[in-house]
Amino acid sequence: MSDGSEEFRFAAPASADILIVEDEPKLAELLQKYLALAGYTSRHVARGDAALDAVRAQRPDLILLDIMLPGMDGWEICRQLRTFSDVPVLMLTARAEEDDRLRGLELGADDYIGKTPFSPREIVARVKSMLRRNALVQRSVQVGPAAQMAAPLVIDELRHQASVRGEPLNLTPLELRLLKTFAAAPGQVFSREQLLNHLHDDDRSVTDRAIDTHIKNLRRKLEPCFPGHNAIQAVYGVGYCFALPPD
Ligand code: CA
Repeated sequence: MSDGSEEFRFAAPASADILIVEDEPKLAELLQKYLALAGYTSRHVARGDAALDAVRAQRPDLILLDIMLPGMDGWEICRQLRTFSDVPVLMLTARAEEDDRLRGLELGADDYIGKTPFSPREIVARVKSMLRRNALVQRSVQVGPAAQMAAPLVIDELRHQASVRGEPLNLTPLELRLLKTFAAAPGQVFSREQLLNHLHDDDRSVTDRAIDTHIKNLRRKLEPCFPGHNAIQAVYGVGYCFALPPD
């Protein structure tokens, strides 16, 4: 039966290179073992101040990032990383407080998972789903300075422009950032709070209700590009979800 959701069932890349930044050798070793069982290769650095160099030396497909680390903490790594890389980051945190979680997401982490109790199986499952999501993004959306026009939606970060099949969308900066957030995770339902967290400092004035207005405007601008398809669907009581029509 086809409900359109096949679009989201992509196999994770057959092989992927995972960078583990973790100062507890036992945990790192366990993670490497489980990742290998899942068919992934992994590298491990035990010091925070070695993480960025490891990324620069070879861009991993995903980073498992601990927070409390010698040399540089996970927050700072994340902040600096985001100035030059969009590699997916899954934060490993022993501290599950809301503030820490939000702080990680604000600094550019893509997701977080608790370390206590430590479940390598669950972490690998999350890695898989993040890689799958990322593979889907690369297929349906191209983000980058010199993206080709093959994908229907192209977000050109250098020029701060989005276009569909070469037609510019004329978005406000805030709409562009919203679209970027959605496009990075097609099929994922975002709460208004999550969307607010993805906007940057200069948009602190944006409120819950203002988000609805911006989404309405963004939806109106996308509609002519995908006639009869609502690219940003409201999910009652939860938030919003983005999906492009199948080719
Ligand atoms: Ca640690």
